[in-house]
Amino acid sequence: MSLQGKTALVTGAGSGIGRATALALAGQGVAVAVNDVDLERAQVTAKEVSSRGVRAVAARADVSSPDEVTAMIDEARKELNQIDILVNNAGIEHVVPFAQMAYEDWRRMLGIHVDGAFNCARGVVEGMVAARWGRIVNMASVAAFMGPDLQVHYATAKAALVGFTKSLAREVAPFGVTVNAIAPGLIDTPMARSFSPRFVDKMLELTPVGRLGQPEDIAYTALFLVAEEASFITGQVISPNGGHWV
Ligand code: NAP
Repeated sequence: MSLQGKTALVTGAGSGIGRATALALAGQGVAVAVNDVDLERAQVTAKEVSSRGVRAVAARADVSSPDEVTAMIDEARKELNQIDILVNNAGIEHVVPFAQMAYEDWRRMLGIHVDGAFNCARGVVEGMVAARWGRIVNMASVAAFMGPDLQVHYATAKAALVGFTKSLAREVAPFGVTVNAIAPGLIDTPMARSFSPRFVDKMLELTPVGRLGQPEDIAYTALFLVAEEASFITGQVISPNGGHWV
């Protein structure tokens, strides 16, 4: 795998899957702009990235804000020049019956997951097209396909990312830019630890491999998709889920 010298922006990389992805990229010689809404957490991951011998920049922004994302990408470019790889990973979870879901809950969920992916991809895609090389990976979820209880907004946001992935992939394919999505099953991160034990047990019952995924399971899926050798894979959704097909 030859990613040496490439640069990446990973959103929500202060924790969980994003952190593991930033570290996996760093292990392949990729310089990383480590985004998180929490600057301190971004700084901790950025330090871990630079300890692997590559450049790192901690880049605070709320990905749902177009202005904050523009400023973040400008800053990241000052340090890293071009962004070759974008991993749209930042996300939240929220469990609420639909009848009690406020419009603000709905907007916040779509804002972070869907507007966030739009804002970041919009900020980097022209550079990728001009360079005739780029990789965009969007973090969807099995929720897009299984429709989990009490998460209408989350399932909607993740399903939207699948359409976003497929349509954008088609548009930028002629320019050497691939766009794919990952739809993880239940992964052992701070986000998953906030789910009820009942939900976790139910997900485990549906998972033949018999364990929760680890953040590294997803990070290595992302590495596979951004590799030079994956240039023929685009518009796809790959679901590392321990056999929990939906
Ligand atoms: P996590 O450990 O909670 O990490 C998500 C990170 O994103 C957190 O540091 C979070 O900060 C940050 N973030 C939240 N809102 C943000 C915003 N507006 N702008 C920038 N950063 C923001 O969660 P994870 O499990 O690694 O999840 C990563 C992605 O995988 C999410 O998109 C999630 O939906 C998806 N996913 C997770 C699972 C799972 O089982 N864990 C399964 C399928 C898909 P705060 O903590 O301050 O909010």
